[in-house]
Amino acid sequence: MVPQPTAPRLALDAVHATYVEDGATLEALRDITFSVPDGELVALVGPSGSGKSTLLDIISGLYAPSSGQVLLDGTTLATPDRLGRSSYMHQRDLLLPWRSALDNAAIALEVHGVPKREARRRARERFPEFGLAGFENAWPAQLSGGMRQRVAFLRTVLAERPLLLLDEPFGALDALNRVVLQTWLLDLWERERQAVLFVTHDVDEAVYMADRVIVLTARPGTITHVEEITLPRPRTREMLTSQAFHRHRVALLEALGLLSTPEDSVEVSS
Ligand code: ADP
Ligand code: MG
Repeated sequence: MVPQPTAPRLALDAVHATYVEDGATLEALRDITFSVPDGELVALVGPSGSGKSTLLDIISGLYAPSSGQVLLDGTTLATPDRLGRSSYMHQRDLLLPWRSALDNAAIALEVHGVPKREARRRARERFPEFGLAGFENAWPAQLSGGMRQRVAFLRTVLAERPLLLLDEPFGALDALNRVVLQTWLLDLWERERQAVLFVTHDVDEAVYMADRVIVLTARPGTITHVEEITLPRPRTREMLTSQAFHRHRVALLEALGLLSTPEDSVEVSS
């Protein structure tokens, strides 16, 4: 028997998205087609307003596309049926200030019907791995920015869905904390190897982490370029200075229109 190729964990087929506001229709995404197989880390970059968050909302089942299909494991699922099928870390993933770090993390399981005691036990188990041992009872306000991100991240991962959607997971952090968390996320992913789709506006972060980088244009977001990252795994910080890294970086900056020759710089800035 010929073995069947396994369907990708996530596939998008000609997805369009619109918002209607004050009677006017705004086109947010146009004709988005790509897939994320299991074990791949795919980055999504694009200017602000290019529909990156909208795309993750659609995949997670929070928002319905105006046309096109979203397939999970090869099956087209209607928008409400996609809810709960992926782990989604939103762009503004605020922790609940009145819940401890532990209880903030445990929410991920509680919403899936796990009893509170069991949810806390399973969340507590993973605190050391997330560099949070000893901070179970801390309030969000007592934690550093990097630690709050890790609690939010732990909450996302605890749901144990095979598809991870991350919207600018390190967006609010300073450069040093970003580097620490990027490396830490890569380590975690090397062990678990879920399908990951993550949004970033940092081209270096995209090249350093991803197998593939998808570039969206300004609104309506359309795919203008896909960069296959050839750097070997596991990735190391030393790769940031390699020629291959530089080539990927330049290709992406060009695709984003951020490298312009003097002749067209006027056009870009207008
Ligand atoms: P990105 O995450 O790439 O910055 P978004 O997906 O947040 O982009 O937004 C894409 C476009 O859709 C933007 O122009 C934004 O203003 C608009 N938009 C996003 N959410 C809504 C909404 N709930 N209602 C109306 N317009 C929206
Ligand atoms: Mg966004």
